[in-house]
Amino acid sequence: MREKADSDLVRRQNRLLLLEALRQNGPLARVELGRHTGLSPASITSISSQLIADGILEQVEAPALQPEMLHRRGRPLTQIDISGKSAHVVAVKLSIDGIELALADGRGDIVARHTARTSTYEADPKAFGRLVAEEIGALLARIRIAARRVARISIAVQGVADSQTGTVVWSPAFRLRNIAVSGAIKERLGIACSIANDANMIAEGLISTRQVQPRETTAVVFIGYGVGMGLIINGQVYHGPRGAAAEFGHMNHMPDGPLCRCGRRGCVEAYAADYSLLRWASGEAATRPPSVSSIPEAELRALEAAAARGEAPAREAYAKAGEALGFGFARIISILTPSRIILTGPGTRAMALISPHLERALAAGVVEELRRNVEIEVIPTDTDMIIKGTISQALRSVDREIFAYGPLQQRGRELENIA
Ligand SMILES: [Zn+2]
Repeated sequence: MREKADSDLVRRQNRLLLLEALRQNGPLARVELGRHTGLSPASITSISSQLIADGILEQVEAPALQPEMLHRRGRPLTQIDISGKSAHVVAVKLSIDGIELALADGRGDIVARHTARTSTYEADPKAFGRLVAEEIGALLARIRIAARRVARISIAVQGVADSQTGTVVWSPAFRLRNIAVSGAIKERLGIACSIANDANMIAEGLISTRQVQPRETTAVVFIGYGVGMGLIINGQVYHGPRGAAAEFGHMNHMPDGPLCRCGRRGCVEAYAADYSLLRWASGEAATRPPSVSSIPEAELRALEAAAARGEAPAREAYAKAGEALGFGFARIISILTPSRIILTGPGTRAMALISPHLERALAAGVVEELRRNVEIEVIPTDTDMIIKGTISQALRSVDREIFAYGPLQQRGRELENIA
């Protein structure tokens, strides 16, 4: 009995190793799969055959771009890839003025999208999960995909999400707290559903697009409508036990500072988010409450132009933002000694205005011996990075929770048996 359990475990681990290598590298020849996983050619052949029989992997012909890509006998080289038909996943992005949905296939390619313009801000905490479930149901019906073909739904939201209870604990996208989301979706659609912070999903996206190296330790900091962080430790996004780790934006920068969207005072975000910059430049940082709606890009571009022209209030706003970020980074460096801190988001457009102040705060906040080993870098990710990262996170969960055991249909049978 024990031996059987051990061999099942090894089988699952090996299946997962192959899937991880293919997710990370794209299609690979068997010999390359061996190199990436450390498994023997015999194991690669046997595991990949099982996964192909399960409909999870498929054989593809390598694009013969160069003559050396041809097999010795002149046949095109065969590669193995994850099959697009193996499963579908749905990524959901909740923001202040809408619910964005993307349906992706088993390889992560987006096959359908829909954005429902609705004011999430005024949402009823008890009815919101049902609303999201209806939107997903409508998208699936439109493109005729049965819910049982969808292996997982993953949701990204700004603010604090509790992955254990599937609720949005607090988010600037909602006026009220504790919005239950995942439970209603699972109940109505019968699909596993999870919820996570959007900055963590940007970090997942950077890993899946190979902009972060395997085993790298990096802090990814988003600046824009808010300030968020995704922390990558040894190549994996660190979520913490309830999914709320690395809340950099709401770490205190200055006791009794300006009011933040989270309801407390002096958070990093209350200095470095877009609404904070405009508020500082207006001279009303101490009295004006944070904006609850999204700020039009034109207003921010006007502020950047004013600072570039040398107008003192605008320049001071960016100086305050740089200082808050710099002292925050100094603490992160002292605790984690990451190899890089990656800045991303629309706020990075003004890096030339922010950087000198950020560097000065860093120099004051952390010893040079630690500072010099950290690269601070801007990666201007596109607005779709949250969706890409959410899809990638959903597929990795499917690999671990379903494909390591067998094909999606098998999970379907298990669910039917339970019902
Ligand atoms: Zn805050």
